Amino acid sequence: MEECIFCKIAEHKIPAQIVYEDEEVIAFKDINPVAPVHILIIPKRHIQSVALITDTDSELIGKIILVANKLASENSIVESGFRIVVNHGKNAGQSVPHVHFHLLGGRVLGWPPG
Ligand code: AMP
Repeated sequence: MEECIFCKIAEHKIPAQIVYEDEEVIAFKDINPVAPVHILIIPKRHIQSVALITDTDSELIGKIILVANKLASENSIVESGFRIVVNHGKNAGQSVPHVHFHLLGGRVLGWPPG
């Protein structure tokens, strides 16, 4: 999608600190990290929100979780613990309309979230 900032990152049209990439998925460091490890994992294909994921995306979403696990391992946050967060819509504070999975770790993460 032309105006989507995460599509532009996926297409290498704007810079990001990319930590993983394959044909379908790309992961990069959040520009405004809220934890010592804060990585965004996204499908390269534009999907506006987690609420718009369909049956045909199930393999892709499974792959994203595997990428999150791999990055958690690489960042040594498996033993200490990590969180995967996906925000949808206004109440959850989704600010970028391209589905993204936050991988957060490296500190104690409060619960319930704010
Ligand atoms: P959300 O509030 O769930 O939509 O999260 C959007 C996230 O994208 C925020 O944590 C932002 O800091 C992050 N973000 C926005 N623009 C960029 C960018 N150009 N590169 C990396 N992270 C970004």
